[in-house]
Amino acid sequence: MAILRKREIDNLAQMTTGELEEFLDSLPTGQEDIEELFFYLEAKLAREECNHSLRFSMQYMMENRLNFPKLSSWLQRNGGFCDCKVLEQIAPEWRKAFDRDDEEVSEN
Ligand SMILES: [Zn+2]
Repeated sequence: MAILRKREIDNLAQMTTGELEEFLDSLPTGQEDIEELFFYLEAKLAREECNHSLRFSMQYMMENRLNFPKLSSWLQRNGGFCDCKVLEQIAPEWRKAFDRDDEEVSEN
């Protein structure tokens, strides 16, 4: 198995609530926009195959007037090189980190 450099998204699960807040502040857009992007991509890719580009992501960002250059470079740094990779590489880690209200979060 190839050794991959650790991506920001891989660290989310270990972050404390405070660190997650800092992480969200560092993003080029809000948490909800990113989560909406995942839903948008899931809906699009259910009907059409990924063409190995970020075309649906770009569509979403244009429609919602998000910062495409910044957001797409963040996605790519975290393995989201095309629409299906965003769902495969980023969405699960993101959801693990943010859908853990019931679990105990360790504080520093
Ligand atoms: Zn793809």
